[in-house]
Amino acid sequence: MDNPGFAFFEGKIIPIEQARVDIRTNALQYGTGIFEGIRCYWNEKNKTNYVFRMEDHYRRFILNSRIMMIDIKYSIEELCDITVELLKKEGYEEDSYVRPFAYNSGLNIGPKLIGNKQDLFIYTIPLGEYLDISKTISVCISSWDRIPDNSIPPRAKISGSYVNAAFQKTEALLNGYDEALVLTANGKHVSEGSAMNVFMVKNGNLITPPVTDEILEGITRDTVIKLAKDNENIDVQERSIDRTELYIADELFFCGTGAQISPIGSVDKRPVGNGEMGPLTKKLQELYFRAVKNEISKYSGWCRKV
Ligand code: PMP
Repeated sequence: MDNPGFAFFEGKIIPIEQARVDIRTNALQYGTGIFEGIRCYWNEKNKTNYVFRMEDHYRRFILNSRIMMIDIKYSIEELCDITVELLKKEGYEEDSYVRPFAYNSGLNIGPKLIGNKQDLFIYTIPLGEYLDISKTISVCISSWDRIPDNSIPPRAKISGSYVNAAFQKTEALLNGYDEALVLTANGKHVSEGSAMNVFMVKNGNLITPPVTDEILEGITRDTVIKLAKDNENIDVQERSIDRTELYIADELFFCGTGAQISPIGSVDKRPVGNGEMGPLTKKLQELYFRAVKNEISKYSGWCRKV
């Protein structure tokens, strides 16, 4: 059987090839959907899959649905149970990824958030590394700014807003970089990567842009804040970061469900530190990979066994 075999679609789990939308679907035309990305980690030692911080992802999903006026008819617990059922049916023995999507499924012409039929689907895919995290990556400042909250709110994880991320990532790749760092809409401060949050280490301080600098309020960002506090006794500073602070940072890394903990080796061709993964990034990366595989008991509440 090909992976994935199944999707949750229109209220039930069905073979994925039967989960099809009409070409007139409002969300396909206008990007009026919200989504999540959740990772499921395969622990080879005990042959078990663990979904990481699934409840927190679905909590964010339901909160974001308010911004987009999408009515999600399922509770967090129900969404978690459906996801576990799907993953059980797939039976992956490798890392995988869950994509929930709630959207305007009506067939009417015109962009608006009301008066539409709405629906939700969930599917899973096997997923290894999104970025190569064994080495540092090269990053440029994107010429494409982030979209301001008052245009398309980045915190809402709106499908249509990912055109902005696509411009950034594509420009970076075409210019020979691995990823892009994006500035806030007025070009004033550093916001985040194309689809990941960013942290900077400077003089022993760990710093990340605040939630009001046009970022997605990342679950991995929150994980890093907690790992740093609990294990390294570091209080993360949430404050705006200037572009040129990146050029003189001791360490920089991206974090996100896809990106995981990804060390940055250069920004606009300026090496970060000595260009290698920094010591704090390495510690946090190690902690992260043990936490997600349910190998640190105090974080076992973050791991839902499949
Ligand atoms: N920012 C953006 C724009 C993203 O798409 C993502 C990926 N979901 C993140 C940050 C990281 O968020 P999380 O850690 O919740 O995956």
